[in-house]
Amino acid sequence: MNERAGPRVRVGVSACLLGQAVRWDGGHRRDAQLAEVLSSRVEWIAVCPEVEVGMGVPRPPLQLVREPEGIRMREVASGVDHTDRMRRFAQLRVEELAGLDLSGFVLKARSPSCGARDGPGLFAEALLEALPDLPVEEEDGLRDPAARDRFVERVFSYRRGS
Ligand code: SF4
Repeated sequence: MNERAGPRVRVGVSACLLGQAVRWDGGHRRDAQLAEVLSSRVEWIAVCPEVEVGMGVPRPPLQLVREPEGIRMREVASGVDHTDRMRRFAQLRVEELAGLDLSGFVLKARSPSCGARDGPGLFAEALLEALPDLPVEEEDGLRDPAARDRFVERVFSYRRGS
């Protein structure tokens, strides 16, 4: 099958990567490779955990902090703890996403919510736990065209197998 010309698959994405102004400072992190190159091949399901949980834009920046009882999500300046709220939200949102027939997910790197590698972020953690076989990448890992092609292959292969 020529996947470039074939039916599009549904892929989740951190909303800021598509140019949605949902970051804590009111900005975005539009990734041209995703927004322009992959958009012809996938139907994006955009998710911003921090906005969807009700934190608003703008909002205080967050960070993950390693504490004796485990990783906590706290506001950088005030230390206000959002861990339990975000974990509850992430679990429910991921259950909802699992019913949407996703074939992959592109996460924003280095985010306390969406980052997959460092931490990982609380939304990413819930996603990876609930859907361990789903092809998941951070946008950083898709800059290289060959890596992007490999990800698309994995997405279509997951689609065929599901
Ligand atoms: S990284 Fe995730 S939580 Fe942060 S602005 Fe982007 S979509 Fe929202």
